[in-house]
Amino acid sequence: MHTPNPLTHLLNADLHCHSTVSDGTLEPEALAARAKANGVELWALTDHDEIGGQRRARDAAQRAGLAYLSGCEISVTFAGTTVHIVGLGFDADDSALRDGLAKTRGGREERAREMAAGLAQVGIHGAFEGALPFVGNPELISRTHFARFLVERGHCADTSEVFRRYLTEGKPGFVPHRWAGLGDAVRWITAAGGIAVIAHPARYKLTPTEEYALFSEFKAHGGRGVEVITGSHSAAEALKYAATALEFELLASRGSDFHSPSESRIDLGSLPDLPASMTPVWQALADRVQWPA
Ligand code: AMP
Ligand code: MN
Ligand code: MN
Ligand code: MN
Repeated sequence: MHTPNPLTHLLNADLHCHSTVSDGTLEPEALAARAKANGVELWALTDHDEIGGQRRARDAAQRAGLAYLSGCEISVTFAGTTVHIVGLGFDADDSALRDGLAKTRGGREERAREMAAGLAQVGIHGAFEGALPFVGNPELISRTHFARFLVERGHCADTSEVFRRYLTEGKPGFVPHRWAGLGDAVRWITAAGGIAVIAHPARYKLTPTEEYALFSEFKAHGGRGVEVITGSHSAAEALKYAATALEFELLASRGSDFHSPSESRIDLGSLPDLPASMTPVWQALADRVQWPA
């Protein structure tokens, strides 16, 4: 008898979001409950450079009756800019992956102190101490936490405005940082049994030549997927990267990149379907899914 594959391209998979373990505002348990309530059928928590929330996310998914894939989002420096690589379905106990992530996180505190010094020069004092109450994980102070502090102090109306005016390249609170290498990030994920995916490709300020190099080098290092449907893509961008997925023979992923009920435009589970021409990354990860009991 034919058993239908439950992992079709129409599955409500949401394989990208953040908890208090990085720069989200909800605990992993609250995210699992929210994903379930929103109709998510396969979920992954993908905190920045950190897998400290994986056990909690997996256990909460089990309790909620939600299928789960391990996840993370690694910060990478490529062509002088920051690119994010999502890892899915890896063994969260893999020591090389854990060491690589710890190394990638290192330096965030010093960077944050430099960001605060830059902000002090334009009259915003005490930003390091001010950001700390927003930080859930002392190893993961991010620009998002500074943005929340500046909103709280009334410097800006919302976090997007903070990024535009203070935290992006050329602005007073921006500090260039060297993250992981592309090849290292892809290898850490792959060697731990997972699949590496280029996150929200439309967000990067790369020339067409640099973007081609990103996809080519990513594949050469063993990368296998790309986010086609994400909270950061317009419909036109989703179409563009569906074509890129076909061109580079990459698996397609889908994820909201949800951070917070009050900040994120796209909620968990409320994304367009993957185009039918795509091969979903979750088909290649069927044996890595942790099914609820
Ligand atoms: P970091 O890893 O400290 O450089 O912070 C990166 C995070 O900042 C991203 O993962 C987003 O959550 C957030 N971010 C980046 N750009 C923006 C933006 N324009 N508006 C709001 N949040 C942003
Ligand atoms: Mn983030
Ligand atoms: Mn990202
Ligand atoms: Mn993200």
